[in-house]
Amino acid sequence: MGTPYAEVIGDPVEHSKSPLIHRFWLEKLGIEGDYRATRVAPDALGDFLRARASDPDWRGCNITIPHKEAALSWAASLSPAAAEAGAVNTLVPVSGGLAGFNFDVDALAADVLPKAQEAASMEQAVIVIGAGGAARAVLQILRNVPTLDIAILNRNRARAETLLHDFALAGAALPLDARLPPAGLVVNASSLGMTGYPPLEIDLSPAGRPTVYDLVYAPIETDLLRQARQRGLATFDGLTMLIGQARLAFERFFRLPPPQGTEPELRELLTR
Ligand code: NAP
Repeated sequence: MGTPYAEVIGDPVEHSKSPLIHRFWLEKLGIEGDYRATRVAPDALGDFLRARASDPDWRGCNITIPHKEAALSWAASLSPAAAEAGAVNTLVPVSGGLAGFNFDVDALAADVLPKAQEAASMEQAVIVIGAGGAARAVLQILRNVPTLDIAILNRNRARAETLLHDFALAGAALPLDARLPPAGLVVNASSLGMTGYPPLEIDLSPAGRPTVYDLVYAPIETDLLRQARQRGLATFDGLTMLIGQARLAFERFFRLPPPQGTEPELRELLTR
């Protein structure tokens, strides 16, 4: 037996922060193990996973663009979040094949679900900005909250309407410059505010005192979060979900939870 290892697979994959996170925890825990980034072309996914599944040192992989949906068909079993999302972000070898998980959804749910439940109980809306893949994960969580009022703001309003329809949710599909309704939670699941994209120009004041979650993690301190903090609102930044999903995957790969109390150091490493 060689050194146990896990990895992130994608195409491209060089941008992934997962190796930094997992190696940081491996080192902190003194585990002899490795975590790599491996470029896998779409047509090579099946052969790749077959070969890895027969490698006794392989502990599994995280999956990034463009394999999240395709990898689903290689899983012998699926977690509820992966089955519901129709996408996996982690595969782990188990007896009988590969187990598929969607820890992106699980990590997001840990923070979004309680805030959305609170909003519903106070008859406040949840506002989602964006209608792409990340917004889909948010709606997957929101659909578990009965009687929730949802507003999706998106450049392409038809896409927001499709999203509401796909999740059988009643809600409003609004343009990006719509006045915000009173809300308990605002989630930016669009690319706006991300390095290389236009800024997210939004006025939080009509929303009242919502918790603000920005999924953008480059930069960490977005204009949206800055505005929220200036208003004294509770916030979550994009690293929360990134680190949260990595935590869940690490525990599956290496059979130990990541070390406690090291998050400030990890965050510093990720923003360097
Ligand atoms: P996606 O599927 O490509 O969707 C992009 C969204 O941004 C769409 O709603 C799109 O609007 C909007 N958008 C893009 N460019 C725009 C522009 N120039 N003007 C107005 N709207 C624009 O991307 P995604 O996978 O959902 O990712 C969205 C963001 O979430 C990214 O910043 C990503 O890094 C972040 N994210 C973070 C995590 C994490 O762990 N923190 C995980 C996943 C994603 P249209 O529908 O009108 O095109």
